[in-house]
Amino acid sequence: EAAEWAKLKDAASITADGKHFDIAANIGTPKDLDGVTANGAEAIGLYRTEFLYMDSAELPSEDDQFEAYKEVLEGMQGKPVVVRTMDIGGDKHLPYLPLPEEMNPFLGYRAIRISLDRQDIFRTQLRALLRASAFGKLRIMFPMIATVQEFRQAKAVLDEEKAQLQAQGVALGDDLQVGIMIEIPAAAVLADQLAKEVDFFSIGTNDLIQYTMAADRGNEHVSYLYQPYNPSILRLIKHVIDSAHQSGKWVGMCGEAAGDSTMVPLLLGMGLDEYSMSATSILRVRSLMKHLDTTELQDLVQQALNVSISNDDNLKLVADFVAKN
Ligand code: PEP
Ligand code: MG
Repeated sequence: EAAEWAKLKDAASITADGKHFDIAANIGTPKDLDGVTANGAEAIGLYRTEFLYMDSAELPSEDDQFEAYKEVLEGMQGKPVVVRTMDIGGDKHLPYLPLPEEMNPFLGYRAIRISLDRQDIFRTQLRALLRASAFGKLRIMFPMIATVQEFRQAKAVLDEEKAQLQAQGVALGDDLQVGIMIEIPAAAVLADQLAKEVDFFSIGTNDLIQYTMAADRGNEHVSYLYQPYNPSILRLIKHVIDSAHQSGKWVGMCGEAAGDSTMVPLLLGMGLDEYSMSATSILRVRSLMKHLDTTELQDLVQQALNVSISNDDNLKLVADFVAKN
């Protein structure tokens, strides 16, 4: 198997019926680029910038951030790079940025909520990103968006910084896209409205499952409720994909489910455009795609959404389907 996978390193990601999808990599630092190149990623679908903040003794400067973003964009040689703005809070803390004690940190002050409140930190990051946009194909992504208003506010701050840099004559990329993570159920339900305003979505199943099932993703006592294939989760994902496409936007996934062999056939059947995963999963998923025919997957999706009543039903449904192919 490993030998067959290795041959796919420089191949495009194509299904048995000839449809092309993008397989992308999740990274945490520019050091991860080696693995991305070695495994033939077609893009970076999630650059988690919080490690830049966590690996530092103080807030990283605009120039330090600029250098990191530029290195990743240049390293990808014109392939798309989705950079997520700071997702601190929840379980991720910064020694130099005291956060309030909270009863429910995962429902509290985190990610875009901090960025909109601490605009000094947010604007520094956005300026670094905008300056780096001249060196590749940058897509900026906001995490933990719950409402249309939050997106509009974040986008307005970005537009202000962009206008200022342009007035100063700073060179910027000309095909910047701005999108959001869909990882809060409210955003998934209103995906049709959000899709009119953004350039793209990326579905964060790690959090979307936790919030939809009301089950802490790290708590072993409720891990039986962490159900990626539950029809409720699949229906939300389908709605997000359909909503993006109705507005002519692309939609990816950067949660663990995007590289999961049981989930991939369902996602292909729903038409998800981009699959972002740890670099070590890329060749396995590219090989799996090669053996799947999307026309046959439509029926599988219908069953998973409408006939099945449980996570385990769907696990078996896909396993049986794959075994026959
Ligand atoms: C997610 O929630 O699915 C995601 C990709 O973000 P993180 O795992 O960093 O919360
Ligand atoms: Mg998340």
